[in-house]
Amino acid sequence: MNVSNSLRTNNTRSAEIMARARGRFPGGVNSPVRAFRGVGGEPFVAARGKGAFVWDADGNEYIDYILSWGPLVLGHAPQVVLDALAKVMQDGTSFGMPTEREVDLADMIAARMPHLEMVRFTSSGTEAAMSIARLARAITKREYILKFEGCYHGHADAFLVRAGSGVATLGLPDSPGVPEALAKLTLTCAYNDLEAVEKIAREVPLAAIMLEPIVGNGGYIEPTAEFIPGLRRIADETGALLVFDEVMTGFRIAYGGAAERFGVTPDLTALGKVIGGGLPVAAYGGKREFMEHIAPTGPVYQAGTLSGNPLAMAGGLATLGALTREVHDGITAQTANLVQGMRDIAARHGVPFTASHSGSMWGFFFRDGVVRTFEDAKLSDVSLFKRFFHAARRRGVSLAPSAFEAAFMSSAHGPAEIAETLNRLDDALGAALA
Ligand code: PLP
Repeated sequence: MNVSNSLRTNNTRSAEIMARARGRFPGGVNSPVRAFRGVGGEPFVAARGKGAFVWDADGNEYIDYILSWGPLVLGHAPQVVLDALAKVMQDGTSFGMPTEREVDLADMIAARMPHLEMVRFTSSGTEAAMSIARLARAITKREYILKFEGCYHGHADAFLVRAGSGVATLGLPDSPGVPEALAKLTLTCAYNDLEAVEKIAREVPLAAIMLEPIVGNGGYIEPTAEFIPGLRRIADETGALLVFDEVMTGFRIAYGGAAERFGVTPDLTALGKVIGGGLPVAAYGGKREFMEHIAPTGPVYQAGTLSGNPLAMAGGLATLGALTREVHDGITAQTANLVQGMRDIAARHGVPFTASHSGSMWGFFFRDGVVRTFEDAKLSDVSLFKRFFHAARRRGVSLAPSAFEAAFMSSAHGPAEIAETLNRLDDALGAALA
């Protein structure tokens, strides 16, 4: 295929819509990363998606690896989800009362993650993480939370905090509007730095040690073999709760998530993305004894008008129902093929490159060697990433518009789509280097 003949150069409609959007939304978007500030240029406006593909408002087709930032593990508009939604909506779109589907989805989650004995559904990952912070503080009667540089846990005040590199410093707010007094309760240290964690946990009474078990919000960063077991030990020895934020990794890095992948059971877990299959669902959960602190059984208040929404539950049930272990393994194999293909392309072009995946979550950096921390990630060639991103996009491959975001794969991406992606990315890298 002559890739250069198929450059996506017509973006007229997208530009028109974005011009209107800028009058209505800050930056023209309803979530900042969509504005392409990380790569420059004009975002394309999505019009529709099917399977591995997304089409923009000008009719350009892209093989999509954003996949709504993770939820679409079956690809865009899978028939099982469409059918489930069409059926369920006939009976009403919201009740604000208990429904059976909520129990069904909680059962399905617990069948794969048995440590989630009880859950509470929310509508976003931010709410799930925020509620976990409150719950962990209430359970332990402690106020400090330890998080890791490059990990994102939604935009609640407690998590919009980072610290200087190396050993933790007291938190400074990442965003105006986050009270410094609150930010001080969030401590931060480098991912994979067990020594720093140990030191902090022995000096400061931590309510929770919270992490993305594989980082997807600082680029794709894997833990060392010792890191997660080490966190479990430190949490146990110091009385902190260990919290896995699996909003991104859940039902992606392994069939049973991080606990299965790393053999470590957290005290509390946040889920999102895949458990709604593209509808607004997230959840937090853990042992019954912990979750019973939540109202109305316990005093820790947390609520939501649309929590457990029937359409959202149906999206999750259809998605997890179709995501059998066999399907998960199939997506994993395709992800491995893509990642290896990209390594081969980079090697042919003589470019420093590292790429990895776990299940259907993957990522790459333009640099040599293993990336263990967000600081390592920042040493990658971001300028080359930006050129590569735009070259890929012009050739019909949609990658996350940031050098510091993980990518995803779906069951709709078959060998033909992977081969075509690699063909286009090979050409794109050549163009980015020219
Ligand atoms: N936690 C993690 C690990 C995430 O990746 C995200 C979102 O990307 C969130 C929490 C926040 O979820 P939401 O965007 O649904 O609020």
